[in-house]
Amino acid sequence: MGVRILSGEAGACLYDSVTDWAFGPLFASEEQAEAFCAWHREHYAEDVRQLTDAELQARYRACLAALAVTCPRCGAATTLEREGKQWVYAGHDAPGGAYCRMSGEEDWSKVGS
Ligand SMILES: [Zn+2]
Repeated sequence: MGVRILSGEAGACLYDSVTDWAFGPLFASEEQAEAFCAWHREHYAEDVRQLTDAELQARYRACLAALAVTCPRCGAATTLEREGKQWVYAGHDAPGGAYCRMSGEEDWSKVGS
């Protein structure tokens, strides 16, 4: 019960599993939707389901701005991800279903911070 993420080819969105009601922005990926939820929990006590569309839109923009990062490998605009208690950059979905991944030797954990 609670906020869940529905994802597909077009991206991902949030829905309330209690009411089966989708809401909020279309995220670029499931990872980005997860990052938004983690970021929101970290910054606000309220449940995202209680926000008005305008409030949610403002927080979505603030989140994207806070987590925005440019991929050092290909230059794509993407976002940091939550890993444990840290925001890290590991890679991002790339066109054609590929994944642009940082290799193990590269430490990108400081990117964007
Ligand atoms: Zn990349």
